[in-house]
Amino acid sequence: MRTIRTITELRGALDPPRRAGRRIGLVPTMGAFHQGHLSLMRQARSECDVVVVSLFVNPAQFNEGADLENYPRDEQRDADLAAAEGVDFLFAPPISEVYPDGFTTTVAVSGPSETLEGAERGRGHFDGVSTVVTKLFNMVGPDVAFFGQKDAQQALVIQKLVRDLNFGVEIQVCPTAREQDGLALSSRNVHLDAEQRARATALNRALERAAELTAGGATDTAEITAAARQVLEEAGVHTEYFALTDPDTLTARNGRLTGPTLALVAARVGDTRLIDNRVLLPNPAKEAPHA
Ligand code: AMP
Repeated sequence: MRTIRTITELRGALDPPRRAGRRIGLVPTMGAFHQGHLSLMRQARSECDVVVVSLFVNPAQFNEGADLENYPRDEQRDADLAAAEGVDFLFAPPISEVYPDGFTTTVAVSGPSETLEGAERGRGHFDGVSTVVTKLFNMVGPDVAFFGQKDAQQALVIQKLVRDLNFGVEIQVCPTAREQDGLALSSRNVHLDAEQRARATALNRALERAAELTAGGATDTAEITAAARQVLEEAGVHTEYFALTDPDTLTARNGRLTGPTLALVAARVGDTRLIDNRVLLPNPAKEAPHA
């Protein structure tokens, strides 16, 4: 595996395989690799001739200075893990390569970027994501790019970005990798102490509770939301949102669920902010008859 720092070098490395018609896959990351990242790399390796992993902690998408400062960084460890997955190129540019002096452009995707994470973290978060992903697509020119369902809203924003701006790249969304007890893998999990780590399972447990209820015939959004929020409350985590939404548009679902629904949760465990999500499949066949 070769580590690349500049756009010129990256283009030089990718031009020959591109001209030869090779399929180029990109996995955009901020580093601190865990099995979630590695699963995306494995998927890319299984379908592409050339696999590029970008490693760039993008300051533009952080709304809290402390979160950016404390973001875990260990490039050597990441490089070793990526190499072991058969990645061809680790593109790890310095900030000045991505945002040179005089940089003033922002790519803003209206719609799915405005709710939930966009509302909690501020408009700048997804603007930062869509701007850097646009730049990475232009730098790498991938045929396919791999993202995690863990960041479901981000994946939707990027799919819309690709459609709206006619990027010739296929977006693949890969399943969320989890710990044995269900906690979604996240680079931020390293900040949890043992007691917080135990409480953090509440996010997945709340989603599971909602999934059990819908599978059992519940369709009332208020009932499902209340039950999920209770799981979070009992674990003593600070819930920022628990939302039932249309999986394509993220518009809130209220009243009675009739089709697949994306449940999303964000909560703080101590100072650590975690997110998770799950698709709920209502089961009207089991629904209790209306009074
Ligand atoms: P990040 O480094 O956090 O920006 O994540 C890079 C990519 O890995 C994004 O597409 C994430 O959605 C994805 N990712 C993060 N955590 C997981 C996970 N637990 N399972 C699958 N993909 C993940």
